[in-house]
Parts: sequence; C-alpha cells; structure tokens
Amino acid sequence: MLPMPPASQPTATSCAICSLHLNSAQLDPTLIWRGEHWLLRHHPHPSPLVGWCLLDVRRHCAGPVDFSAAEAADWGLIVQRASRLVKHVSGCDRVYAIAFGEGARHLHLHLIPRCNGIPETEAWAVADLYRDVQHNCRAAAAEIDVEAWIQTAQQRAPRLMGEGPEGVRA
Ligand SMILES: [Zn+2]
Repeated sequence: MLPMPPASQPTATSCAICSLHLNSAQLDPTLIWRGEHWLLRHHPHPSPLVGWCLLDVRRHCAGPVDFSAAEAADWGLIVQRASRLVKHVSGCDRVYAIAFGEGARHLHLHLIPRCNGIPETEAWAVADLYRDVQHNCRAAAAEIDVEAWIQTAQQRAPRLMGEGPEGVRA
C-alpha cells in the first residue's frame, strides 16, 4: 500500500478562495451573508446569470469528505437556506447546486437560478453558458442588475439565513 501524501497546508496565497476571503475590498461587493462556517457571495463579474451565487466553506476544505463534525451537521440547513434565498430573490423556479472544486480545491457550491422558459439555464446548458461567458463568447449579466440583486439579497439574508454567531451583514 502506498503511503498517504502529507496533507496540504494551503496558505492564503496558494488558494484563490482563501485569498478572496481575506481581501475585503474584493469580497465585500459580492458578499451576501457570512456565518460561523459559511459565506454566501454572488458570482464575481463576469457572472453568467444574475443571482448565480457561491456558498463557500470559510475554512480551507476541499469538500464534504473533509468536513469537520460541526460543518457536516450544519451543511444541510445552510444549503437549504441559501438555496431558498436565491429562489426568493430571483423568483426562479428551481435552484441548482453544483460543486466540482477544480477551479480551487476549496469548496464553493454553485447555487444557480433555474427559470422555466429560459433554455440556457436548463441542466447542462448552464455549463455551456458558463464557459461562453468566461470566454467572452456570450454577454455576462449586466453589472447594474447584479448589484441590485446583491442589495436585495443582503437585505433579506438576516431573515432567510438566520443569525449566525458572528452576526450577518444587514
Ligand atoms: Zn482555501
């Protein structure tokens, strides 16, 4: 049996998401809510859709396999609340939850508003939309619309996400 490699010890400079969490100038414009273990933010520009959010674990952690007991116990509730927030603010029909963890090995769950009658938000078509926007082949969501969405989400977050031990942004 091969020996296990040593656990990596990412630093703020080696993980883009840890780095973002420490950079309030970069994070705050997209931040919707922050609790003890989790942070909810809107996708940065260019965003494929208005309301495309990311639920990050605050500790450097690749995914559910590596959750602490407290994170594991909290996960279901927080995914439900964050998904409901996306649904309420977007008025969408469904909310997809997707996590690959390849862009950064730090769990960031994509919460994606799915609207009936908008085919590019349906199932894997949303992955094509994502790639097209990242490669400048399709227009990103308008920044003014994203900013308005974030403002509404921030206002509703205290009620929809619950009061975390570290409080929430009003
Ligand atoms: Zn990290």
